[in-house]
Amino acid sequence: MPIHVLSEEVVSQIAAGEVVERPASVVKELVENAIDAGASHIRVEITGGGRTRIRISDDGSGIPSDEVELAFLRHATSKLQTANDLSHIVTLGFRGEALASIASVSHLSITTRIAEETAGTQLQISGGALIRRQSVGAPAGTVITVENLFFNTPARLKFLKKENTEKRQIALIVTRYAMAYPHVRFVLEQDGREVFRSTGSGQLADVLVSALGLDTFKNMVEIEGGESERESRRDIRVSGYSSVPNHHRADRNQITLFINGRWIQDTRLAYAVTQAYHTFLMTGRYPIAVLMIQLPPEEVDVNVHPTKAEVRFRDQDSLFVAVQKAVRRALVDLAQTPAMRGRVDGLPWGSQDNSAWEQNHASQLDLSLELQSSGQHTRTSLYREPQPPLAPTDIPDGPGAPLKPRTLPILRVVGQIGATYIVAEGPAGLYLIDQHAAHERILYEQFMEAHARQAPASQYALTAQTIHLPPAESALLTENMETLAHIGFDIEPFGPNTFIIRAVPALLANQSPQDVLNAILSDLEAGAKPGQAAIEDKIVTRVCKQAAIKAGQILSVDEMQSLIRQLERCQSPQTCPHGRPTMLHMTSDQLAREFGRLG
Ligand code: ADP
Ligand code: MG
Repeated sequence: MPIHVLSEEVVSQIAAGEVVERPASVVKELVENAIDAGASHIRVEITGGGRTRIRISDDGSGIPSDEVELAFLRHATSKLQTANDLSHIVTLGFRGEALASIASVSHLSITTRIAEETAGTQLQISGGALIRRQSVGAPAGTVITVENLFFNTPARLKFLKKENTEKRQIALIVTRYAMAYPHVRFVLEQDGREVFRSTGSGQLADVLVSALGLDTFKNMVEIEGGESERESRRDIRVSGYSSVPNHHRADRNQITLFINGRWIQDTRLAYAVTQAYHTFLMTGRYPIAVLMIQLPPEEVDVNVHPTKAEVRFRDQDSLFVAVQKAVRRALVDLAQTPAMRGRVDGLPWGSQDNSAWEQNHASQLDLSLELQSSGQHTRTSLYREPQPPLAPTDIPDGPGAPLKPRTLPILRVVGQIGATYIVAEGPAGLYLIDQHAAHERILYEQFMEAHARQAPASQYALTAQTIHLPPAESALLTENMETLAHIGFDIEPFGPNTFIIRAVPALLANQSPQDVLNAILSDLEAGAKPGQAAIEDKIVTRVCKQAAIKAGQILSVDEMQSLIRQLERCQSPQTCPHGRPTMLHMTSDQLAREFGRLG
């Protein structure tokens, strides 16, 4: 093919790929435009995960009749004049690419009117070509409808994610903007059902209650960062909410950060938040946080990436310190003055408030290693609810249990260390067994074996409990409902983002169903590996983890003996289902060598 300049149509489709990668990115761009237009009410209606239809209505400024076509030209913007403006961007958009891009890969219609004009303007655009223009009656503001996205780019269409994934992503995007703009009233409707609404009250707390659910919000502390402590950086402000230390997740996804009202992804800042929890959280657990960071616009370069989610900072280190300190201060304050939790005005703090955490936490601060009256080891039981003593039935060791080839020798229990490790002796020396990891392994193999025999999942019936979930998590739950049912959960949708739990796997009889589900959803959210088998395995692993005896629980000799008998029967007794070791082994030879009895 000889060299030739690409047609405008092809150029715009290529460029569109950078900005509109998927339906969720269309929602993002159009919501940003509505916010930039000063809207106080933004309505997002989605059909078919956005592939069929996306409609965004706002009551913002509108576009003057003689500029509407212009808005659809590439690099046409009202937000930027000179290259100099790029150094202090205060609007969400500035490239003038979104409308042109979206219009080039969809059937789009726009109806818009500015307050000063009596009639509105309506355009219909198909694959970038203007089909029709007319004058219509319309309220001030803008309505944009995008249908049949990617109809003319089959390659892109082929790579679209599942409808449910897209729905979840869209819910995340809308809730994030609602957090960043609490003065704006947002409504999100998916397939005719309202899944999210913010009040527009101007209070971040109100948005968080709708977005994260009251149960999560009740477990967050307000960050009132105020000014940075560094004399030179008085202009960095950090505010928002972050979870109390006994409320945590398996992944960092729940750390939501905004810089000057723009949601950003920044692993270093997310790390700063996690660092603030140092010694407050177990390793591998992450807080839930929503932080608003304000700094002078000229300090942030948003012109790095087409989606503008990655940014660069002029003074990354000061920012890191400011974020970490603000969060840390709130956590330390909370630990010192329990009464502070009433600080959020008008908040309906539930009866299950943070007092359990505060008790644990208070004792943790002086790091006392004394045994609590319940027999729990303070240090290892950090932030956990006290566990009921292990009932003998929890570790069934009946003669009916099938015998497996032994992979562990017969062990004799010697005792327990730190309420966490079992010391045992075998023919080949000394064994130190992590009781939690070992029990996880046992439950996991029992579960999998029952599964392989296609035994019906044994259930524990609950008096029906309702739970409310944030829209994104509720989509995730819906997506995995069948797998959960397979494992023994009986969950039923019950209105928008609300579910009834009727039964859980029998293993979980003593656990809070809400906690278990949250943990499962957070695992699934983190989940990289797709595929039904992997998902099921993930859920089973989590169920076993929740059900297993915890570290910090004192066990009787009989309980330890029974645990070890069962571990002996496991196919892979040496590791827990996550792959961590369940035991350390020191051979008689090693012992003798250490004590200088050998050679
Ligand atoms: P950008 O947002 O980068 O300027 P867009 O392609 O998203 O580029 O939009 C082009 C222009 O169209 C904007 O600069 C703005 O003037 C106008 N516009 C887009 N959406 C709206 C809206 N919802 N209300 C008012 N004006 C809008
Ligand atoms: Mg824009």
